[in-house]
Amino acid sequence: MAIILLSGGQDSATALLWAQENLKEPLWALSFSYGQRHLVELACAHRVAQLLGVPHTVLELGSLWAQWEVPSALTAEKPIQVTPDGLPTTFVPGRNLLFLVVAAIWGYPRGETRLVIGASQVDYSGYPDCRGPFMAAAQAALTQALDRPIEVLAPFLDWDKAQLWRYADSRGARELIAEETHTCYQGDRTHRHPWGYGCGACPACQLRKAGYERAFS
Ligand SMILES: [Zn+2]
Repeated sequence: MAIILLSGGQDSATALLWAQENLKEPLWALSFSYGQRHLVELACAHRVAQLLGVPHTVLELGSLWAQWEVPSALTAEKPIQVTPDGLPTTFVPGRNLLFLVVAAIWGYPRGETRLVIGASQVDYSGYPDCRGPFMAAAQAALTQALDRPIEVLAPFLDWDKAQLWRYADSRGARELIAEETHTCYQGDRTHRHPWGYGCGACPACQLRKAGYERAFS
C-alpha cells in the first residue's frame, strides 16, 4: 500500500489520479489539520478520496505554526505578498517536511514505505520544499531515521498547471478536479468558474485559471 498526502488542492488530487493509474497497489490518503485558515480544504480532500474510492484519514497536528508564532498567510490573517527574502507570505516553513515525517511515522507500524506528494517546482511560488533536491533529501533522511527504504514519489515536480489539467482530463476527471478541489488563498467557495471555485484574483486562483486556459483553449 502507498500513502498519498491529500491536501484538498488540485495538485494532490491529481497525484491521487496518477497513483491510481501508476502504482499497482492499494492507496491510503492522509490529510493534516494544522491550523490552516480554510478548513474547506479538508472537506475537499475527504470528498475527493471518497469519490475516487480511497480510504482517508485526517491527522490532527494542532495549530503548530500559529502557536509558535511562525507567520504564514495560510495560517493567519496576513496579506499575500512577497517578503524581502523572496518568498511569498503563503509559505509555511517546514510544512512539507513535517507532513512527510508524520506520514512516514503513521505508515511505520503499518509497513507503508511509499509516500506520494503532489508538489510541483514549476510555475509555483518558489517554495523550497517543492523542489527536487528537497524530495531526495527527505527520502534519504526518512530512510536513515526509520532504517527502512522509504520512497518519496513526487511525480509532478516538473509539471505545470496546464499539464495537471490535461492529465486529469485524460483520466476523465476534469470536472472532479474543478468541482471538488480547493486552491483559492481567500477560501472563496462562492464564485464558480470553469476551472473551479475561487476569488479569481489571488495568486493561487490565477495559476489555476491560467493553467486551465492553456490546457483547453
Ligand atoms: Zn483566490
